Amino acid sequence: MSLVYSPPPQTTLPVVGVDGVAAVHRIYCVGRNYADHAREMGHDPDREPPFFFSKPADAIVVEGGDVPYPPKTSDLHHEIELVVVLGRGGADIPAAQALDHVYGYAVGIDLTRRDIQGEAKKAGRPWDLGKGFDASAPCSAVQPASAIGHPAAGAIWLKVNGETRQSGDLAQQIWNVPETISYLSGFITLKPGDLIFTGTPAGVGAVVAGDQLEGHIDAVGEIAITLV
Ligand code: MN
Repeated sequence: MSLVYSPPPQTTLPVVGVDGVAAVHRIYCVGRNYADHAREMGHDPDREPPFFFSKPADAIVVEGGDVPYPPKTSDLHHEIELVVVLGRGGADIPAAQALDHVYGYAVGIDLTRRDIQGEAKKAGRPWDLGKGFDASAPCSAVQPASAIGHPAAGAIWLKVNGETRQSGDLAQQIWNVPETISYLSGFITLKPGDLIFTGTPAGVGAVVAGDQLEGHIDAVGEIAITLV
């Protein structure tokens, strides 16, 4: 059967050291997965199971670069995050086997229209337009787990115009990567190419057009964006 219109191109990410690209299927994001960030957002990190929201796959900005400051906000926030790239899908994946489903890892920025998200929270409405807008998911190239293993600890930081704004360690995650994959796969059948943005440490804040953001995760990589 022929397509009745041309779909947008498949979103892909480059893979470090590999002659090939990683297809992106869906993007799931964990909310409040570092205790200090949960506290700065006004929540008790000890009492909350993980929760998820999503972004469209084509919100990816491949390897950063120029990112347009989005419309309908005056409070755009940065959230630096470890991104898990699944190479195998599955449902009800036990945590002990979850890492077998991981192809690799990347450095992502969960850009957030905090004002729109805040209004949605107040009204008990979905966060979609606060989180899932065009170019809201800058993401680095993928480091294969076959090359770097599965980082469970290591520095994660973000600088704005050279000044450190977020600084944490992957070991501070409330729900680690295997637990997160296992929990999410109880609700939906995960697919190859699904990405999981695994939450952000404290220090989120507003950025404006012209700002230069640099993100880093030990062993995983770097990302740099300029808001234009
Ligand atoms: Mn986030």
